[in-house]
Amino acid sequence: MKITQVHTHVLEHKLDRVFESASMRFDRRQHCLVEIVCDDGTVGWGECLGPALPNASVVNAYTAALIGRDPLETEKIWLELYNLLRDQGQRGLTVTALSGIDIALWDIKGKHFGVPVSTLLGGRFRESVRAYATGSFRTEGMDRVESVAAEVAGYRKEGFHAVKIKIGFGVEEDLRVIRAVREAIGPDLRLMIDANHGYDALEAVQLGKRADQYGIDWFEEPVLPEQLSAYRAVRAGQPIPVAGGETWHGRYGMLEPIESRCVDIIQPDICGTGGFTEVRRIADLAAIHGVRLVPHVWGTAVQIAASLQFMAALPPNPPRPEPIQPILEFDRTENPFRQAVVKTPLEHENGVVRIPDGPGLGIEIERATLKEFALKEG
Ligand SMILES: [Mg+2]
Repeated sequence: MKITQVHTHVLEHKLDRVFESASMRFDRRQHCLVEIVCDDGTVGWGECLGPALPNASVVNAYTAALIGRDPLETEKIWLELYNLLRDQGQRGLTVTALSGIDIALWDIKGKHFGVPVSTLLGGRFRESVRAYATGSFRTEGMDRVESVAAEVAGYRKEGFHAVKIKIGFGVEEDLRVIRAVREAIGPDLRLMIDANHGYDALEAVQLGKRADQYGIDWFEEPVLPEQLSAYRAVRAGQPIPVAGGETWHGRYGMLEPIESRCVDIIQPDICGTGGFTEVRRIADLAAIHGVRLVPHVWGTAVQIAASLQFMAALPPNPPRPEPIQPILEFDRTENPFRQAVVKTPLEHENGVVRIPDGPGLGIEIERATLKEFALKEG
């Protein structure tokens, strides 16, 4: 079997309502899918985390090295592509683009052998995972406390066991929102806060100390991702467990945060940190150091499916009879192609998502949707 074509699909949807995190304003959703075609007709799909057009151009830069290769040689291809841009590209877009390619190759491998990727990874420890709802951004023209409280009450009604809200807009305002959210969801639902690196270490410590009374599972990206010593200061200076990792790429990017315990929970994104090939090594690193792993997920159904395959095969750590199960991040913001790119949407039922058991990623791509949401240039 040989690779004959590599295509990128840049999807775009302009949002009805602009929303923002502490570090980014969203007036549209854009995602880059990777399609790899083989000479026997097998097609694999992957996705790259982050800005879609730059990702597509880096995928295109890798394409010449992929044509004619055996797609089953995932480890060899990963290293070769990484080496191509290694001197200037150990992190960032070179790795996010490589992630999309690697996921597509594992999809092909699964289809070739007629098994889900999770089987290729060594077998499924679980057939479903609980999902937590990610949302509660700051929405333009809406009162933040009221709108976020109403939004999370909706997630509770839908059956979610946990919600994650966006903070990082100032300590006092954030505390008002956190208090309102805890009231809206009641005492039993798990609650996480994500500052999208909107604080400095002093603010983060202050927020963490005062927010702890509301029962917070984790405090995500409190400070800038480059500031590893600030991460350690936040972890040491306040009581809420610290999470992070969606902007750290590859095993080398993950090594110091894990080894020096910047975080209690590491959050690699399979579409950003190097695909199946690399995320397994990161999972091993985390397991060795006793750092809990909860994948970051922010994309289309391709990304959700890849994350689910990875989570199915993630060994329990520690391996007790009722292990701590990984939970799925389930983006609830406006994003029509999150589900529409596949023929059978990946939905939750009472906050639980079944892991597909078909070959490869276990999904079928809806090509009409790719056409409908294709980025119109200019
Ligand atoms: Mg986050």
